[in-house]
Amino acid sequence: MKKRIHKLIDRIDNLERVRKLYIFLLIFSIIFLLVILNYSYISTFKDVKVLYAQYTKDRIIDIKKHFLEDSVNNMINNIEQTQAEIMEINRNRINRATKVIGEYYSSKKEDFLEKTIDYFDTGTIKGAFDIFILDRSTDKILYQNNIGDIEDIRNIYDYIDDLKKNSITYNEDDYGKYYIFYGVTEDYIKHATTESIKKRIHSDSFENDAYIWINEIVNYDGGENYAIRLIHPNLKDTEGTYLSTNTQDIKGNYPYLTELNGIKGNGEIYFTYFFKKKTCEEVAEKLTYAKLYKKYDWIIAMGVYFDDIQPYIDEISEDGDKAISKMTTLVGILSLGLIFIGILIVLILEHWYYQNSNKELREELNIDELTKAFNRRAATKKLEETFYLFKRYNNIYTVIIFDIDDFKEINDTYGHDVGDSVLRNLVEIINKSTRKTDYLYRWGGEEFLLVCEGLKEENLDSFTDKILKDVENFQYESQGEKYHITISIGASYFNKDDEDFLSVVKRADMALYNSKKEGKNRATLNI
Ligand code: GH3
Ligand code: MG
Ligand code: MG
Repeated sequence: MKKRIHKLIDRIDNLERVRKLYIFLLIFSIIFLLVILNYSYISTFKDVKVLYAQYTKDRIIDIKKHFLEDSVNNMINNIEQTQAEIMEINRNRINRATKVIGEYYSSKKEDFLEKTIDYFDTGTIKGAFDIFILDRSTDKILYQNNIGDIEDIRNIYDYIDDLKKNSITYNEDDYGKYYIFYGVTEDYIKHATTESIKKRIHSDSFENDAYIWINEIVNYDGGENYAIRLIHPNLKDTEGTYLSTNTQDIKGNYPYLTELNGIKGNGEIYFTYFFKKKTCEEVAEKLTYAKLYKKYDWIIAMGVYFDDIQPYIDEISEDGDKAISKMTTLVGILSLGLIFIGILIVLILEHWYYQNSNKELREELNIDELTKAFNRRAATKKLEETFYLFKRYNNIYTVIIFDIDDFKEINDTYGHDVGDSVLRNLVEIINKSTRKTDYLYRWGGEEFLLVCEGLKEENLDSFTDKILKDVENFQYESQGEKYHITISIGASYFNKDDEDFLSVVKRADMALYNSKKEGKNRATLNI
């Protein structure tokens, strides 16, 4: 009995210790979890952010590349369109000239030459045309434009052949003794195209300081003077100057060499190098696309600066940071919530376990170990309670004490163990004979106490008789011998003059004494 109680007390003490351990473990695990969460989440998100920034950068570069390529291809289309327009203008000029000269010839032959020369000398024709008037009767050159000196007149017809070959469009005709040639060379078309494109490129403006420039290759093998800077809106003063593939940028790259090798290989190239910005003196890394326009030996190129990309990526990173801190806060709150739910569950479980142990302990403390009836401690409590209820509400309680008759003999005859089993058996018999509201207590040794509620005096006799009979009728057997036991009963009720419950016990005890005295196996009431 004591062992069991000590065990329970130990368990409760342990619970106190375990509770402290729980709290320590919980605080520790909260801190540990938070540190792990912070570390793992933040580092994971940082990785994601770096990847995202890289991806964004790559995407922007891709978009810029397309923009550069499209712009350069557009420029090539412009060049070709400009050429076609210039060609068209000059074809019309030739047709008109043919018509005008024809009219001069058919109307008034005397001043034909004068008028024709006058026509050639005025207007826009002179700037564009190669013109040549020959007197076939004397082989004398009467007029020429853009042709230069012809030293050996004997070669004049070879020269005319050359003129025809060089001209992209021309007209020749004999008007009497006059041979007249006028035409436009490929060089003129190129020159006119260059001027038109130059104007256009100089006035073009793109976002982020981007611009197009054109270099004309003189020598595909590279080296000094390998190209002429033809059009460059950023450095107009240097247009017409020669370039060298040996030129290096501030980082030691050879941009012209890279570009030349690239366009020789694929006709186009993307490359980066460092170059002065358009709007200021700053030198910055530039992504460039260059494409060869073979017809004119032009490298048409366009570039954008990389540093435009960084602010955009920074902006995206900032957005990413905001998302990460939001996420981290959320995860933190969630994990704290989980931890607190965990604590709550542990506390509830622990409380439940504590309550149970306590209940068990309380029960153990009130129960007699041998007979499993309530013990004297419980009896005292019950008597205190019932005495209070009697005093306050005048409830009826019967207090019955009974004692086994000649129990010593049982012990002496069959041994103490048999005596113990008789005690256990007696408790079972009494419990069966009484109601649920009747409480049985082992008062001491082989003496028991019964507290019955609502048992009226007139019913007491039949109640005690039933008990006496039930006890007496039960047959025991030990060492081949059959025997019965009897008990003696003393009963009493609370009295209005009683000061405490001891008085009723005394009266019942006295009644029991009388039952013994009167010959045992009987009940006596002592009011
Ligand atoms: P009486 O009819 O006058 O009551 O006679 P009795 O023999 O029962 O006398 P008494 O009440 O004085 O003796 C009680 C005996 O009960 C003495 C003791 O050895 C025995 N006893 C008390 N407690 C226990 C117990 O727990 N187990 C056993 N086996 N015997 C007990
Ligand atoms: Mg006794
Ligand atoms: Mg006895």
